[in-house]
Amino acid sequence: MNYDITDFYTQEEKTMLSRCMLCPHECGVNRLEGEKGYCQSDAELNIALICNHKGEEPVLSGEKGICNVFFSHCNCQCLFCQNKDISDNRKKCKNNYKTLKEAADKIEEILQESENIVGFVSPTHQIPMMKSIIRELHRRNLHPKIVYNTSGYDKVEEIKGLEGIVDIYLPDFKYANKDLALRFSKIKNYPQVCLQAVKEMYRQTGSSILSDERERALRGLIIRHLILPGHAEESKEVLENIAFELSFSVSISLMGQYFPPFEIKDYPELNRTLTKEEYQEVAEHFHALGLHNGWLQDISSNAEYLPDFENMGFK
Ligand code: SF4
Repeated sequence: MNYDITDFYTQEEKTMLSRCMLCPHECGVNRLEGEKGYCQSDAELNIALICNHKGEEPVLSGEKGICNVFFSHCNCQCLFCQNKDISDNRKKCKNNYKTLKEAADKIEEILQESENIVGFVSPTHQIPMMKSIIRELHRRNLHPKIVYNTSGYDKVEEIKGLEGIVDIYLPDFKYANKDLALRFSKIKNYPQVCLQAVKEMYRQTGSSILSDERERALRGLIIRHLILPGHAEESKEVLENIAFELSFSVSISLMGQYFPPFEIKDYPELNRTLTKEEYQEVAEHFHALGLHNGWLQDISSNAEYLPDFENMGFK
């Protein structure tokens, strides 16, 4: 190793990484010494990919796309993960940008052609790394809008620490039911943890998405929910949680592009795509609840796997 990774971090970040309690798993391992907890990640940058991504919601991607930084591994290990190559903790942790300079050079290159937005994908277990990259961008006088694109299994204290750093929160809200969370993600307390984290995001941003004259988001909260085949009722409960616990005005991206990543033997309902009827049932509940901001996804996009959002303008 011809660089010192600890040079990336502040004293506070080093202290956190030396007994990692960054996420609700609270492993307490010393990542600076190479120890690994649930996320199987050490203290390196652990970036799998930096690319221009055009498949986000229209207020983010625009026509030019956004610069997404995909971290390796994830603190949620969902059976049906649509991104397993990168996020599976059993696979080798990809670390394709070893230094801040390499990562920032690539981001700077992509920002020349994309919207002026950088999205950090699966950042929960890599928050100090994300902050280090942002500091390096600021040092270069680059001030893109920052998107925090998370599984939603985040600690409230860590989200509080992102106030003034993150501009747009993009959390998943996967489950309202702890049994389903346990079955599909092996995390029983996901619903309550996610709800508290999203409430803190909402406290920081409110429900309105502030945008510029080109309708690109500058600040706000967009909650994503992927409807799982055979579980429309669960999705309706998630929408109820958001409506009654947060706001009827919060922006929701209702995703219908579920695609079986491989054969899931224990849960056969996950081995198919969503039907139009299932999607429609959840979308109707969205309206019936009085939710009125967000995006419905074109259901036909499930065959293509990649998100393809269509703004339905629920005004
Ligand atoms: S970030 Fe990783 S090591 Fe730290 S508490 Fe979470 S799962 Fe454990």
